[in-house]
Amino acid sequence: MKKSIITLSLAAVLGFGSITVGMPIEKASAANKINDLNSQKEKINQQRSGVESKLNDTDKKISENQGEQQSVQSEIERLDKAISDALAKIEEKNQEIADTKKEIEKLEAEIEILVERIKKRNELLKDRARNYQETGGMVSYIDVLMGAQSFGDFVERVGAVATIVEADQDILQAHQADKDELEKKQNQVKEELASLETMRAELESMKKSLNAQKAEKDKLLASLKHEEEEMHAHKLELAEENEILAAQEAALQKAIKLEQERQAEAARQAEAARQAELARQKAAAEAAKKSSSSAGSSSSSGSSSSSDSGSSSSPQVSAPSVASGAWTRPASGRLSSGFGNRSLGNHFGVDIASGGTVPIVAAADGVVIRSYYSSSYGNAIFIAHSVGGQTYTTVYAHMRSRSVGSGQTVSKGQQIGIMGNTGQSYGQHLHFELHRGSWDAAKSNAINPVGIVPL
Ligand SMILES: [Zn+2]
Repeated sequence: MKKSIITLSLAAVLGFGSITVGMPIEKASAANKINDLNSQKEKINQQRSGVESKLNDTDKKISENQGEQQSVQSEIERLDKAISDALAKIEEKNQEIADTKKEIEKLEAEIEILVERIKKRNELLKDRARNYQETGGMVSYIDVLMGAQSFGDFVERVGAVATIVEADQDILQAHQADKDELEKKQNQVKEELASLETMRAELESMKKSLNAQKAEKDKLLASLKHEEEEMHAHKLELAEENEILAAQEAALQKAIKLEQERQAEAARQAEAARQAELARQKAAAEAAKKSSSSAGSSSSSGSSSSSDSGSSSSPQVSAPSVASGAWTRPASGRLSSGFGNRSLGNHFGVDIASGGTVPIVAAADGVVIRSYYSSSYGNAIFIAHSVGGQTYTTVYAHMRSRSVGSGQTVSKGQQIGIMGNTGQSYGQHLHFELHRGSWDAAKSNAINPVGIVPL
């Protein structure tokens, strides 16, 4: 098929149709087309600088995020130190508390012994007092005293009796004093224990709050890391977008050149046709003059540089037959998903599904913008087309393999790859997008191919 069908036929019609009006109109429309392409190139340039500044922004945000992560990490380090500090102090307090408890137990044991002794001594004294009463109490003392041989003896005996009583009382008092002392000490140690336990409780609550702070910082760090990952992913997307835009610019550049060449060729042909018409008119006039007939016919057709390809190396499924219009079906198979809303977000293209080895062909003549592997699109090819002065972009995604490279010129129906299930795809199919104008990340130019491309 001829390249840029409409462009050439329009030029031909104008060339043959009117000699006087044809040229200016043709030149004007040619200039418009070039202007169009140039303004599109300018638009892509602006989009690219937008993407560049987004990339710069993302880089800035990433380094800000990393700075934040560093400060959070140093805070976590500080908290870790404080926590191990608190833990060491708690351990220390635990030891002190254990020691104090042991001391209390020891004092309790001592007190018990003393209480026992006091009890026994008391019993002994009570026994003795009972004896005194049973034997007449003080009478026996009096007997002792009465038995004195002399006054001196008597004095001595009084002293002895008093000493015995005093001695008993002294021992009892001493025991009581010891017991009081021990109890006092025990109370002191118990107070000490209480204060140690308070300190330990304070340390425990401090540790708890430090742990809570650390958990919060850990959470913050995790969210910062997640954010950073997302930004890196976003950066990759931007880089991919930038590369596609850059390639698109180059493809458009090529399209501009092809368009200029076509126009030059069309102008040359129009001029030839005009000359031929002039010659025919002149000949006709001369013939009329001579009143004889002469045939003057010259018709030039478009330079049909149809580069035939379609090496249909498809063992199972054949490529769809090439349609006669500007567009042809990109693959055989059933239309498994249409254009528009779908459960998982917007669907900016149509899906054609089929099993086996299914050839994918270019939907129209064009220049390959990009042929590459994308994590989302899988094996993907972007093609720029110029149909009747309107540029289009087609996208072929999830292919098993690609057989044309970036920058390559392709013709309608030419095989560019094999249908597959690569990238974010669930089942073998071709995801096909049509954009009026250039592709952008927002897919703002995506249109429903149904009605334009025979599907
Ligand atoms: Zn799809």
